[in-house]
Amino acid sequence: AMEEDKALPQGVSAVIPGWFSEISPMWPGEAHSLKVEKILFQGKSDYQNVMVFKSSTYGKVLVLDGVIQLTERDECAYQEMIAHLPLCSITNPKKVLVIGGGDGGVLREVARHPTVEQIDICEIDAMVVDVSKEFFPEVAVGYEDPRVNLHIGDGVAFLKAVPEGSYDAVIVDSSDPIGPAKELFEKPFFETVAKALRPGGVVCTQAESIWLHMHIIEDIVSNCREIFKGSVNYAWTTVPTYPSGVIGFMLCSTEGPAVDFKHPVNPIDAVESAQSTRPLKFYNAEIHSAAFCLPSFAKKVIESE
Ligand code: SAM
Repeated sequence: AMEEDKALPQGVSAVIPGWFSEISPMWPGEAHSLKVEKILFQGKSDYQNVMVFKSSTYGKVLVLDGVIQLTERDECAYQEMIAHLPLCSITNPKKVLVIGGGDGGVLREVARHPTVEQIDICEIDAMVVDVSKEFFPEVAVGYEDPRVNLHIGDGVAFLKAVPEGSYDAVIVDSSDPIGPAKELFEKPFFETVAKALRPGGVVCTQAESIWLHMHIIEDIVSNCREIFKGSVNYAWTTVPTYPSGVIGFMLCSTEGPAVDFKHPVNPIDAVESAQSTRPLKFYNAEIHSAAFCLPSFAKKVIESE
């Protein structure tokens, strides 16, 4: 068996010397690899291993417990879609909660919406916040917005304490259901999210890959159908450095004013990108609608419930 070189961090194996290979039981038999130019940070927080390396073609890379969380080159796809799919689907979003998202990228995107007055974020691991501010200033810039309130803690406990109907939108930017994010994929957590949302409020969660995790997605969809009586939708997009090159999102609304996720009522791309110092790189109204079009094998499972 390949002896992992003990001096190297998780994933930087002897399989291909000088490359990081994302080996995980969550995607057996496959591993995306990136050529490593320099390891910039390695640490172990109370919750996970944290590593940053400079890749040769994707810029700097943030890795948690051996799983790629973001790269400078393609983080725009995920951060823009997870933030604008929900916020462009409701008119006048004011109060937004982010669970996870400690790198600050989702905050940067939520802050583009002029109607938003309050952005609360609950991230469990302060090391992720500190590492992002040090190595990913273009991502952590989200923390500079005065509307942002950072809470360090478990999103599960945070949501339990939130008064009913507090938020217009909740964005669950979590890592995968192995490790500290496990409970963020379970029914009790979704119930506390529904309670925290106003009638017709929306939630968007990181919802894995249709190529790799249809069984996980099936469970999440059936839980969401029981809990969110407005609408339940699955959208997906391309992120080259996520396993199988895609990532999905659950988009749900609570009972109340109807939300048509597939046709953005609150567009941000036209006006915003012209004025902004950092125009949108990925999201636009067409790709918003297209994100809900599913291949047949996924449609059969997701829309059949
Ligand atoms: N935004 C990143 C990207 O662009 O792909 C992806 C994910 S972000 C790094 C995931 C965050 O969820 C991590 O910072 C992790 O510490 C946090 N997290 C995991 N479990 C959590 C929990 N139970 N409560 C709050 N945050 C949690």
